[in-house]
Amino acid sequence: PEDLVSKTLKRIEEDKVEFLQMQFTDIIGNVKSLTVPKNRFENALTEGVVFDGSSVAGYAQIEESDMRAIPNLESYTLLPDEFGKNKIARFVCSVYSPDGTRFPGDPRYVLERILDQVHKEGNEFFVGPEFEFFLFKRDEHGNPTTEPSDYGGYFDNTPLDSASDIRQQIMKELYDLGYQPEAAHHEVAYGQQEVDLRYAPALKMADRIVMLKSIIKNIAERNGLYASFMPKPINGVNGSGMHIHQSIMSADEKTNRFYDKNAKYGLSDYAMHYLGGILKYINEASAVLASTVNSYKRLIPGYEAPVYISWANKNRSALVRIPAGEGVRKRMELRCPDPAGNPYLQFAVVLGMGLEGIKNRIEPPEPVEKDIFHMTPEERQAEGIMSMPESLGEALHHLRSSKLMRNVLGDHVYENFITVKQREWDQFRSYVGEWEIKRYLPTL
Ligand code: GLU
Ligand code: MG
Ligand code: MG
Repeated sequence: PEDLVSKTLKRIEEDKVEFLQMQFTDIIGNVKSLTVPKNRFENALTEGVVFDGSSVAGYAQIEESDMRAIPNLESYTLLPDEFGKNKIARFVCSVYSPDGTRFPGDPRYVLERILDQVHKEGNEFFVGPEFEFFLFKRDEHGNPTTEPSDYGGYFDNTPLDSASDIRQQIMKELYDLGYQPEAAHHEVAYGQQEVDLRYAPALKMADRIVMLKSIIKNIAERNGLYASFMPKPINGVNGSGMHIHQSIMSADEKTNRFYDKNAKYGLSDYAMHYLGGILKYINEASAVLASTVNSYKRLIPGYEAPVYISWANKNRSALVRIPAGEGVRKRMELRCPDPAGNPYLQFAVVLGMGLEGIKNRIEPPEPVEKDIFHMTPEERQAEGIMSMPESLGEALHHLRSSKLMRNVLGDHVYENFITVKQREWDQFRSYVGEWEIKRYLPTL
């Protein structure tokens, strides 16, 4: 619509913007962006920008490579100062194929498509992430190391180092952007931090997470450190997760479809079926939620990360936890996702599993309130508790036979995701590493 274009142009002028950043993500969640100078502002807003899709991971073949990124005008965001010397505004774009239709390989479009199913019933899918990451020192050449930035632990305030100051810098910027940060704290491991955002509609939240990641990276760099979203950067130490709190509410946020105060656990039938879907399909979605080789080194017993497929009201060893809270606060927390993934696809597959559960009225098993890590394999078997995939290879195996995931992701993303990730897994599994040499060479 023309007046939205002229309104946005006016705002750009008022904000004294010098460059526009047109942004989208590739299939694995890397941000791609194109910078537009002043003389092209109007053109970029109305017609978008053209790029070569064959150079973007998981996008297009050479013969259909002229793609167009068209900005969503309402996503206009004036970037914080450290993004560059000049004033820059960012747009989140939608990607179009050469024939002018929406490009099915755009991860944001995948999320939009599944959200439509919720929107057409007058509801909204809300998510709130707990975002964990490490701050590491850099070496004398400026390269990242795995030496933690500080020696604090859970909830510690570390006055002698910069971690608490960096958390404040991050929150300040998130606040200025209107992202409603809820809290930040030191996590269990040395150098490990967490930032929590207040829940928001999933599409908006995925856009925010993309931004959050670059804010964290930038602020760390400004402070001479390196921020890492690697799920398990240090052997024998807690890894970083991105727990996803989720609920489906009426679009006006007044009625929580997950809440029924008279029901057992306060969870409506709708919520129970949603939960049933998550637990039934989690293995099929695992490669998207925990999408790197390294992700599966986090999902092992003993580090507050989930390993077994179960749910609980309190116990934090469960895959899905129901945190305390009533009414609009009633929600589910899924604990296997990590911050290395593509948030658009992560939210899409989570919702896809839940909606499938609702559609087929899948009943979840009983909650397990015991600490599952301390149960024997026999006890787990007696309770019917299954394990999640132990490797990216196993997760891809489940994904490859999943009709549901093909449906949710669409053929294009489904097939390209498997190709890209299978290559990653094959590289890893064929690599002879230090552990094997140490373990086998002395005796074999
Ligand atoms: N860092 C843990 C994980 O890998 C989670 C700790 C927590 O419960 O916040 O998921
Ligand atoms: Mg945490
Ligand atoms: Mg949590």
